[in-house]
Amino acid sequence: MTDMSDFDVLVLGSGPGGQRAAIAAAKLGARVGLVERRTMMGGVCINTGTIPSKTLREAVLYLTGMSQRELYGQSYRVKDEITIGDLTARTSHVVGREVDVIRAQLTRNGITVLPGMGKFIDRHTLQISDGTGHARSVTADKVVIATGTSPARPPTVDFDDQTIIDSDGILGLERIPRSMVVVGAGVIGIEYASMFAGLGTKVTVIEQRMRMLEFCDTEVVEALKYHLRDLAVTFRFGETVTAVERYAKGTVTILESGKKIPAETVLYSAGRQGMTDHLDLPAAGLSADKRGRITVDDTFRTEVDNIYAVGDVIGFPALAATSMEQGRLAAHHACGEPAHPMHELQPIGIYTIPEISYIGRTEDELTEERIPFEVGVSRYRELARGQIIGDSYGVLKLLVSPDTRSLLGVHVFGTGATELVHIGQAVMGLGGTVDYLVDTVFNYPTLAESYKVAALDATNKIRQVNQLTD
Ligand SMILES: Cc1cc2nc3c(=O)[nH]c(=O)nc-3n(C[C@H](O)[C@H](O)[C@H](O)COP(=O)(O)OP(=O)(O)OC[C@H]3O[C@@H](n4cnc5c(N)ncnc54)[C@H](O)[C@@H]3O)c2cc1C
Repeated sequence: MTDMSDFDVLVLGSGPGGQRAAIAAAKLGARVGLVERRTMMGGVCINTGTIPSKTLREAVLYLTGMSQRELYGQSYRVKDEITIGDLTARTSHVVGREVDVIRAQLTRNGITVLPGMGKFIDRHTLQISDGTGHARSVTADKVVIATGTSPARPPTVDFDDQTIIDSDGILGLERIPRSMVVVGAGVIGIEYASMFAGLGTKVTVIEQRMRMLEFCDTEVVEALKYHLRDLAVTFRFGETVTAVERYAKGTVTILESGKKIPAETVLYSAGRQGMTDHLDLPAAGLSADKRGRITVDDTFRTEVDNIYAVGDVIGFPALAATSMEQGRLAAHHACGEPAHPMHELQPIGIYTIPEISYIGRTEDELTEERIPFEVGVSRYRELARGQIIGDSYGVLKLLVSPDTRSLLGVHVFGTGATELVHIGQAVMGLGGTVDYLVDTVFNYPTLAESYKVAALDATNKIRQVNQLTD
C-alpha cells in the first residue's frame, strides 16, 4: 500500500459484502473508506431485503398464532385484526437496531464513512456525490465494489409502489391486501407468498417454468406446495404474464393462456439487476454484463488488478450469507494476507412458512451423476420435541454414501430448518460419517435428535443390503 492515496482500501456499498470487506481490511491495518448513501447503511440486506423480510415472517408467525394451531386449534390467533402497522413496527425496530450495530462496528474499527454514491474517474480515483449537489474525489490503492442489486422491473409493467410493487414495495404497503398475485416463484417471491398466505391474503403464484425451487429436494418442494395450497395459495406453473392492468379497485393480471386473475396487489419478483449503471465502470477499464454483473476470479479480483468485487453484484448465489464471506476473503487478497479459498459446501436457507434448508447434493443430482446413496429420514412428529412444539410435518433427510458412509446431502423442512442444517454442515465439512451421528448423544427432547433418528434409518437400510449380499 502507498501513502500517496487517501485510502489503502475503498469499499463501495455497506451491505454484508462491503461491511465485511471494510472491517476485515481495517483489522489487517489498512486505512479504509466506505461509501454509502445516508439512508442505506447496511445495504439491501438490512433495509429492504433479508432483515425486514425475516422480521416480517417472525411477526406473521407470532401474530397469526399459526405455529401453535396444532396444539390450540385452527381458530387460534394472537391478534384477530392484524394491521400493517403491527408488522412494520417490528420491522422498523429491528432495522433501526441493526443499522446502529453496523455504524458502531464501522466506527470501532476506524473506518471512514463517506456518505453518497461513488463513481469511477479512473481505476484509483472515485467521485462521491452526496445527493445534495456536492461531490468530492478520493483516491485508493485498492477498491472493493459491493454495490449489490436492485429489483428488475420489466419495462412493460407500470409499477406504482402500492398496487403493482416489487419486493422493495412490500414495506411501503398501506394495508394487508385481501388478494395478491405473485409473479415469479423464486426464493423471494415464494417467501412473501407464504407470509401473505399466512396472513389470510388469497395468493396466486404465477411462474413461467413448470417447477419452482428446482435446486431443492423434490419431496421438500412438494411438501411446501402442499402446505401453501392448504393456506389457499393457487399455483399457475408454465404460464407467462402478458399484461398487468390497474383499475380503481384493483388489478387484473392477464396470462398468455388467456386467463385473467384479479387481485388487490401484484408483487413482481422477476429477478434482480446489478447496481453498476451509475459506477462508470469503463472509466476504470471495467464492464458489466447485461444484468449488471461484474466478473471476478477466485480471489474476487476483477479484470483490473486493483479492483475487487463481491456480493450480489458478482451474481450467484447472491445471498447475504455468502456475500459476507466473499467480502472478508476479498479484503484478505487485497491486503496481501493469506486466505483459504471459499468453502465449497454452502448452505441454502429458504424462509418460507414452513422453512427449508439444505447442504450438499440432492437425490436428483446424485441419481443423474450415478452416485449411489441411501436415504435416512426422521419425521418431527416422531420426536418428542416435534410433539411439544406442535410441528407434525417437519422432516429431516440424510443422503448417505453406502460405500464410504459419508454424508452426501442434508435436507430439512420444518421448524428450525435453517439452524438445524448446520449440524450436518459441520459433520460434512469435517469429513465425518453417518456413524458419528449414530454414536452421538443428543440433548433430549430436541429437533437435533432428528439427525440420530435419520442416521439410524440410513444405516439400518445399508445393513439390510449388506446382509443380503455378503
Ligand atoms: C426480499 C429479500 C430477501 C432476502 N432474504 C435473504 C435471506 O434470507 N438470506 C440471505 O442470505 N440473503 C437474502 N437476501 C439476499 C441478500 O439481501 C443479499 O444477498 C445481500 O444483501 C447482498 O449483499 P451485498 O453486500 O452484495 O449488497 P447489498 O446488501 O445489496 O447492498 C449494496 C449497497 O451498495 C450501495 N450502493 C450501490 N451503488 C453504490 C455506489 N455507486 N456507491 C456507494 N454505494 C452504493 C447501495 O446503496 C446498497 O446499500 C434477500 C434479498 C431480498 C431482496
